[in-house]
Amino acid sequence: MKKISSTETLELITKANNLSLKKGYSEISLERAVFLSWWCDKGDCKFCYMSTQKNKIKDPAKAKRRVNNILAEAEMCSRLGWNIEFLSGGYKSFTSQEIKSIAENIHSITGDGLWLNTGITSELEEYGSEIKGITGAVELANPEFQKIVCPSKPLNQISDMLDKAGDLGFKKAITIILGLGESYEDLEYLKDYIREHKIDRVIFYSLNPHPETEYANSSQPASLYYAKVVSTIRLEFPDLEIICGTWTDNLANIGMLILSGANGITKFPLFKMFGTKYGKRVEEEVKWTGRTLKGTFTDKSKLGPEKSEISPELDQYIKRYIRDSLKNKYK
Ligand code: SF4
Repeated sequence: MKKISSTETLELITKANNLSLKKGYSEISLERAVFLSWWCDKGDCKFCYMSTQKNKIKDPAKAKRRVNNILAEAEMCSRLGWNIEFLSGGYKSFTSQEIKSIAENIHSITGDGLWLNTGITSELEEYGSEIKGITGAVELANPEFQKIVCPSKPLNQISDMLDKAGDLGFKKAITIILGLGESYEDLEYLKDYIREHKIDRVIFYSLNPHPETEYANSSQPASLYYAKVVSTIRLEFPDLEIICGTWTDNLANIGMLILSGANGITKFPLFKMFGTKYGKRVEEEVKWTGRTLKGTFTDKSKLGPEKSEISPELDQYIKRYIRDSLKNKYK
């Protein structure tokens, strides 16, 4: 790796910020990944929490979330102005037909088409206007590492799925985790990938080292490295939607990532953080970039009534989400 130039990094961030302002990226979204299940039949990606659960789950059917709970979560996201980042689930947890039905219901709740991140599939024809786009969980910006870290998710199959998604008229997204062993130079590959597969949206995460995985003792990527990656990609792709994930222990990254070109932020335990000092901190981070936040992390009036406005079958879950949001779990 060549010697790091702090001036170069700051210049990239400044240029990316200027470009974002020129493009009118003045509103930052809060993105919530809605999970379908805690089971993944592949379960061998070396960084993933689910890989530590596979042997502990005796009955995969029990790891599936109740559909009414998922729909109640979507209703709460809608009330609070949070975007649904995607519907996500491990392999072989729900069938395509089940996913379609859940997506249709969420579409009617939020009024917005849904992104999917439910694994490599050849059944994209089953989906229609309830789906806005398909996400390929590429995870690594380096194809050789990708084979090692995600042995059961061949990159060529992800790429084929994305190309087919494009042919069918869906938008295309990829996820990239930083801190898995890639280097800044690997961005050349990532740029080519975005160009070749006409990617509309990139979701960056920083490594969250889970206990019991090979990365348990790895450090998260440096904030300036993360910012340099995002600003480099923003400058290369002015129209790309960029979402950046950061965990509660790295909230100070948010401001810098927005200046670097992020359109949205994600990866928080949203209901747990709502109304707490951490929720307020996220809003402060956004405020100090001069952008506005779409939705709220603190306004309790937006939680709404304890009854569902969609169906009485969701009431018990709505009530629980509201009560959880009003509890301060960080005291
Ligand atoms: S396929 Fe997805 S859910 Fe399954 S182990 Fe890999 S990253 Fe985790």
